[in-house]
This record gives sequence, C-alpha cells and structure tokens, in this order.
Amino acid sequence: MTLTTHVLTGSVIGTELNNPYAIAATSLAVHFLIDSIPHADYIHKKSTLKDSWKIILDLAVGLLLIGALFAIKSTANLPVKNILIAIFFSLLPDLITFFYCHLKMKFLRPIKIFHENIHFYKNSSPKRQFNFKNSYLEIIISIASLGILFLPRL
Ligand SMILES: [Zn+2]
Repeated sequence: MTLTTHVLTGSVIGTELNNPYAIAATSLAVHFLIDSIPHADYIHKKSTLKDSWKIILDLAVGLLLIGALFAIKSTANLPVKNILIAIFFSLLPDLITFFYCHLKMKFLRPIKIFHENIHFYKNSSPKRQFNFKNSYLEIIISIASLGILFLPRL
C-alpha cells in the first residue's frame, strides 16, 4: 500500500479524534487493517535501496496533499498536532519494515513478520503487482479520505 494512502487515512484519524494516545493506537490499528485488504505494492522482496526514490516520491505526494490541506483550510482551523501524530503512527509500521530491511535492525523482526503476514496476498503474488487493477480498493480509500479531509463540513 502506498505511503500516501497511509498519510491520508492517518490525517482523517487526526482530524476526527482528540486524545493523542487514542490517535496513535487507532493509526497503528488502521494501518494494519487497510494493509489486510487486497492491494498492490511498489516495493517487494526484490526491491533494493535503489528503489528508495519511489518511497520518497510517494511520501512527497502524501505530505504535499496534507500541505495543501493546511493551506486551503488554514492551520488555525485544523488540529495540526493531532494530524502530525496520526501521520507518524500511520507510517510507523512501514518505517519499521524499512529499518529492518535496510538498516538490519534484526530486533524488529517480529513486528516485520506480523506486518507482512497481515497482507491479503503474499509478497511475491502477481496480485500485489503495482497496477490500477490491483489497487482499486486502495484508490477508493484514498478518495474517500480526501473527501473527508477537503470537503466542507455541513
Ligand atoms: Zn504497511
């Protein structure tokens, strides 16, 4: 799943909840929950550090969207701290995977294994190939999150 989707769902959590601990716990839970639905991944077993540009681009898109939200709705009208806490915890499981795989932090293995096993399709499955067909549920989640974040409240 893209980091952009995790940033967007996290931002929804950050705008809807008030308690920072509840925000952190919910953000982690929602990360694993949406990772468990069928989706594509642009990073897979054969990815190397050279593929990091994809991660950087993906993260930049997500953060630019939130930057646009802050600009359009004004930070005065948004719970900025809660949104930032939510984004951090929504990204944490993927950050842990990155630390485990590329910085060889072996003590993170149980979390990495849990995270990988929660996915609907195995890492090498063609159903995880990065394309629109494999990503439609993720696209729906992202568009719904954008709607909640950007559309005016009645
Ligand atoms: Zn994940």
